Amino acid sequence: MLTLEKYSLGVGDRFAHQAKAQLEACRMAAARGVEVVPVWNKSNREHLIVGSEPGSVRAAADAAVRELNWTGPYHVDADHINLGTVDRFIDASDFYTLDVASAIGQAASADDVAAFVARHPELVRETGADAVAATTRKYLFAVRQAGTIHRRIAEQRGARPFITEVSMDETDAPQTPPELLVILAAIGDEKIPIQTIAPKFTGRFNKGVDYVGDAAQFEREFNDDLAVIAHAVSAYGLPANLKLSVHSGSDKFSIYAPIRRALLRTGAGVHVKTAGTTWLEELIGLAEAGGDGLELAKQVYAKAYADRDALCEPYASVIDINYACLPEPSAVNGWTSEQYTSALRHDQKNPGFNADLRQLLHVGYKVAAKMGDKYLKMLDACESSIARNVTENLFDRHIRPIFLAA
Ligand SMILES: [Zn+2]
Repeated sequence: MLTLEKYSLGVGDRFAHQAKAQLEACRMAAARGVEVVPVWNKSNREHLIVGSEPGSVRAAADAAVRELNWTGPYHVDADHINLGTVDRFIDASDFYTLDVASAIGQAASADDVAAFVARHPELVRETGADAVAATTRKYLFAVRQAGTIHRRIAEQRGARPFITEVSMDETDAPQTPPELLVILAAIGDEKIPIQTIAPKFTGRFNKGVDYVGDAAQFEREFNDDLAVIAHAVSAYGLPANLKLSVHSGSDKFSIYAPIRRALLRTGAGVHVKTAGTTWLEELIGLAEAGGDGLELAKQVYAKAYADRDALCEPYASVIDINYACLPEPSAVNGWTSEQYTSALRHDQKNPGFNADLRQLLHVGYKVAAKMGDKYLKMLDACESSIARNVTENLFDRHIRPIFLAA
């Protein structure tokens, strides 16, 4: 087993151009005495939409590490993979997020459920046989699925160690702390050495915008989850560094203080995935550069607006866009750099900020992917303004409140 460090940040880069600017944010944390390990992640869904290969993520990460002389650890995460998609990630990744959300609710056999309940009298003592059986019926099949994926990776990786995460976040109903305990018991039975688990937390984790929900309830459940994990590590022989992974974790400003308090109180670690936020900083950097960069950023918006239904469809469960609040492309075409960046940059105090536009552009990276070389060349031409925004966003708005705040 390769060991994941205590604090880690999932960084994503749709077009493999910002690894260095992202790593710079981790270097700034290191300079302040806190190790935040970068984990470059890209899901199969993103690879398909962009038309990229897993090897490109590894290559970009390696290059950034060389250029900045980063001597700390770093990883490459095959994000949200399953049995059908994992194979092409075997060589390029050392971190695997086994996504079994779609298997939740598929029934395990009555015999398997009964055997699980009989094996775990300690769970029955705590919540009662009926509750344990109901939770088992809901999750046992999914956990077994994770075991199958894990064994397939282990077999193909051979002697090459790796980190395992199990994710259940892309589903409708959140998993409660008591359910998490049953899930972890089943993961222990299945002997999956998970180091991170991504439950679906209470509330909405929409892409690229703030948390929507009751932050106090989130804080209670997050702390309860930490207690469940600490207990499960000793009770079920799971890796001692097992920690929570917060998916769609970028831009959730209103829960960073609760997370920080919980980490400080318990000494727990955390993994926070922030993939999509970087691509929005690319657009901000282009717009800020003015001229052709601003022009291209406007073209991306116009096309995303026109294709909004198709772009939103694969992300339906993780966005809430009010079409009526999206500006007409004809209006955006008249915007200055400042108007564009005010609408898009995640500064909730700016009266020009538009969360609907921000979510649409978040899922609109396919538009830039289709522009191909034209888009990539503009990234190079506007590199300095983009890199500044990418680094600042990760460091000031994410690393600082989650990992550094006193
Ligand atoms: Zn996720």
